[in-house]
Amino acid sequence: MTDTRPENIVIIGSGPAAWTAAIYAARANLRPLVYEGEPVGTELPGGQLMLTTEIENFPGFPEAITGPDLMDRMKAQAVRYGTRVVSELVRSVELSSRPFLITPNYSAPILAHTMIIATGAAAKWIGLPDELRLAQTGGGVSACAVCDGAIPFYRNKVLGVVGGGDTAMEEAMYLTKFASEVVVIHRRDHFRASKVMAARVMSHPKIRVIWNAEVARVLGDDVITGVELQDKVTGDVTVLPLGGLFVAIGHVPNTKFLNGQVELNGAGYVKVQPSRTATTVNGVFAAGDVIDDYYRQAITSAGTGCMAALEAERWLVHEGLDESPGVEMAEVLAHSAGEHI
Ligand code: NAP
Repeated sequence: MTDTRPENIVIIGSGPAAWTAAIYAARANLRPLVYEGEPVGTELPGGQLMLTTEIENFPGFPEAITGPDLMDRMKAQAVRYGTRVVSELVRSVELSSRPFLITPNYSAPILAHTMIIATGAAAKWIGLPDELRLAQTGGGVSACAVCDGAIPFYRNKVLGVVGGGDTAMEEAMYLTKFASEVVVIHRRDHFRASKVMAARVMSHPKIRVIWNAEVARVLGDDVITGVELQDKVTGDVTVLPLGGLFVAIGHVPNTKFLNGQVELNGAGYVKVQPSRTATTVNGVFAAGDVIDDYYRQAITSAGTGCMAALEAERWLVHEGLDESPGVEMAEVLAHSAGEHI
């Protein structure tokens, strides 16, 4: 157990929700502490945007900005106003009594009056080595058509979409605006998606569906050139030339470390009050993709991050826990850009 003074506010995560919450909390003189995580496989601090190339739909960047650049800038803005950052994953939390106990992977456990969960959701990948490599290098494999589909790289090419759920249907429809043809690759002989969305896809003149097929290999060195498909009925292997591949096989919200202490919805996302970010645990707020299986956009994540910080700040005031470092300290913090602990 730790004997240090509790932190005002601890933010867990490092995507747009986490950094926006940190910017707001820091500007409110709360000196937030952010656990930004550490690289594990395709999961990087910065979240899903670290696997995105150009972002053309984040307001304020008319020339577009890359996902990693946007995350760097948000983090720098948070640090500039006094946010402290620990580059570790949180292993567990203890929320049954207050202040909350937060145990990171390596450093000492800490106490916190309030906590914002902004750990996001991880896109599911098929798990093929070249799929992940080309997703990480911007080589034409993506898990988000709305994020990446409109960039010039994908224009007028044959684009593949893997999956048979609503997300795959939506991504396929979206990509018809840019692609010469969209090929939906699904492992079964019917879609799981809602009837109306499936019907729209199947009747679209630019969309072709390949049923009972699994992607066995992603082909290409620097950029994708196609995929090797295995027919699940006959076992036949064929090559499908492609200029891009969108994997739309679902997401998994990152909630394991909560160990059931915060209520989740049926799909495993953190449950929050309607139009708010308060969770079922008093003093714990959640923002970003970890609460959202619907919009999943950087800008909506940033929006809920702002909401969570404002709610946490008001909660601290309400509980009489709003110890601020004062004006002089705030000035010092404003000049402490780059500060890490
Ligand atoms: P989902 O409904 O779980 O569908 C995932 C799809 O990917 C399924 O067709 C599944 O195949 C396939 N799949 C899973 N693992 C695979 C693998 N390893 N290889 C190949 N295919 C694989 O996920 P989702 O489409 O992201 O939707 C999630 C939730 O959000 C759903 O409740 C959905 O209705 C909702 N949503 C709603 C909207 C909307 O209303 N506008 C839009 C998007 C999402 P099987 O079918 O064989 O299992």
